[in-house]
Amino acid sequence: MSQKVYLNGELVEKDEAKVSVWDHGFLYGDGIFEGIRAYNGRIFRFKQHIDRLYESAKAIMLDIPLTKEEMEEAVIETIQANELEDCYIRLVVSRGVGDLGLNPTSCPESNVIIIASDIELYPEKFYKEGLEVVTVPTRRNIPEALNPRIKSLNYLNNILAKLEANRAGVLEAVMLNNEGYVAECTGDNIFIIKDDTLITPPVSAGALKGIKRDVVLEIAPELGLEVREELFTRHALYTADECFLSGTAAEVVPVVKIDDRDIADGTPGDYTWDLIDKFRERANSEGEHIY
Ligand code: PMP
Repeated sequence: MSQKVYLNGELVEKDEAKVSVWDHGFLYGDGIFEGIRAYNGRIFRFKQHIDRLYESAKAIMLDIPLTKEEMEEAVIETIQANELEDCYIRLVVSRGVGDLGLNPTSCPESNVIIIASDIELYPEKFYKEGLEVVTVPTRRNIPEALNPRIKSLNYLNNILAKLEANRAGVLEAVMLNNEGYVAECTGDNIFIIKDDTLITPPVSAGALKGIKRDVVLEIAPELGLEVREELFTRHALYTADECFLSGTAAEVVPVVKIDDRDIADGTPGDYTWDLIDKFRERANSEGEHIY
């Protein structure tokens, strides 16, 4: 089936959706992106994703040639052109075409790309049985170098961590920050539960301020969990009662083994099941039908 991609104001066929090799997004990873999910005609936490995109742009002094409202319209148009109900939306704004030097002032116009496609989750088995993860040597970027709050096209340290996870034979890596505290995974935020308390690293530990992380932090008190954002080490992971990840593509996925140690009895915990249910309920019902 044909797939239409939004490219600088036009909807073009997938095979025609091309940018120049002189684009600094390609040459230097100079650009930003968002990953958004739509559930039966609603776009989950749409405004928050658009706000985060524009915050990332501001941080790297990237000019987006659309207002937030125009960007929202363009996203809806792209979903409609592909006749999708439930989908994953990738929004990319790159610095655009320049010369071979890295100075972004040689790039007069950014490129705006919107792709709406099917969702790629972890295989269903992991939602039932839980994931195995490992901590890896590659550290998360320090905020003083490239702040992980910027959702930039520069994901190379996460990619190195993913390679390390692959080599360990698991799907996901837990990344520590430069001080050895747990930061996040390569594409998801991480949580533990200990004695009826939900703990996640503060964003200042070196994590993206995940929009689904916020959803989890909203739901947790409704389940009777105390919520804390605080630093913790690998020891806390190994000795947790429960552990799970959150992210737009992954939603909430249980973790049952870390660095070859079972989390509790090695099966997903009760709070995690309840969080998965509540998360899905919210994602499927919150907000208005907009397409
Ligand atoms: N951390 C990283 C590094 C990410 O790329 C993502 C997005 N996939 C997340 C966390 C989760 O963020 P969100 O809940 O906004 O999808």
